[in-house]
Amino acid sequence: MNSEELWAQAKQLFAGGVNSPVRAAVKPFPFYVERGKGAYIYTVDGKKFIDYVLGYGPLILGHSPESVKRRIVEQLERGWLFGTPSELEIELARKIRSHIPSAQKIRFVNSGTEATMAAIRLARGYTKRSKILKFSGNYHGAHDYALVEAGSAATEYNVATSDGVPMEIMKTVEICEFNDLDCVDKKLRNEDIATVILEPVMGNAGVILPEKDFLFGLRELTKTYNSLLIFDEVITGFRISIGGAQSYYQIYPDITTLGKIIGGGFPIGAVAGKAEIIDNFTPAGKVFNAGTFNANPISMIAGIATIEELEKEYPYIIANQAAKTLVEELERLLKTKHTINHVGSMFQIFFGIDEVRNYSDAKRADKEYYIKFHERLLKEGVFIPPSQYETIFTSAAHKDDVIADTIDKLMKVIGELN
Ligand code: PMP
Repeated sequence: MNSEELWAQAKQLFAGGVNSPVRAAVKPFPFYVERGKGAYIYTVDGKKFIDYVLGYGPLILGHSPESVKRRIVEQLERGWLFGTPSELEIELARKIRSHIPSAQKIRFVNSGTEATMAAIRLARGYTKRSKILKFSGNYHGAHDYALVEAGSAATEYNVATSDGVPMEIMKTVEICEFNDLDCVDKKLRNEDIATVILEPVMGNAGVILPEKDFLFGLRELTKTYNSLLIFDEVITGFRISIGGAQSYYQIYPDITTLGKIIGGGFPIGAVAGKAEIIDNFTPAGKVFNAGTFNANPISMIAGIATIEELEKEYPYIIANQAAKTLVEELERLLKTKHTINHVGSMFQIFFGIDEVRNYSDAKRADKEYYIKFHERLLKEGVFIPPSQYETIFTSAAHKDDVIADTIDKLMKVIGELN
């Protein structure tokens, strides 16, 4: 069956035809993927795309790298779910601890959503306070506490604050704009806030960087007011450096949430932090968390194998160079007003605007023009996110020939759009 035929069936089976909303943003219908290898995905329609979505972040080595695949296949021979611990969870936790400076102890869960949900409950349990502070346009997953002024698909589909989130819960979530320390100061001074949670680099309203002293200021303010600082590094962990955004900026939170890359493309999440905080999770403490699939052997082995490759450093050199070259070329080619925000192997383009330093700026960008850009690139065989409120990623598979090919295609598309 081709994508159009599959889509006709999917619409009968799934709300909006999909199982995660951003997938329906590819118009007129999503392409169905048959396989992925390296920098490429191949569709059931016989098309080939250079992939800059990369599963929305996890695939920093590209699609199905042999080194990871081999370890998964070996593990499949031994079994994949035991309901009791395996050595693999120790191995992955030790690896994470060796790279993420603030991770003394860890709880593995199955998604970024579960990680931030557990981390927020942990912070509330630890501080005995109930309010939290988040930033508009930061996305922390699809649970009630995170779906207030949320970025990503929640913004794309105009449900930044979702229906179904009880008013009582919304009232426990305070909001500031990213990069606005005065707002944070005021909120922390006037309210008992359990935790300030943020993406240290925003990746769910496009890419937005923390300004000088923003992260430092948050660290100082949360200490002053005895509030915990959570870095949601589900995207940035093991991406903008092997030690995440906290190593890159050298600001260390109390709790870090991880996901995506640490599972090597399989479902995973993790809450990491100071031992005295993490020890509040059950069964050591009284903040409940549990999961049938927590620390499942396949996600563990895929994560271990991925981090082993990252430790060799070449993935960062290739992925970062790929993003740098693309950003430089885009800056050279684009004649219309725009901003590109970029760090490491993640970037995003905002058209029609000179500066994007928070969510309000991102929402003022010319989203229609971005979509046109995405659609034209797709026709040329380049897949960038179908939404302004996502990140363009590169990987270790985006080598020079792939980038040169992408630049040819960019030149064609921009020539036609300018
Ligand atoms: N936090 C951040 C920063 C994310 O980008 C995401 C997902 N894109 C999540 C949390 C939620 O992760 P998941 O989709 O695995 O539930």
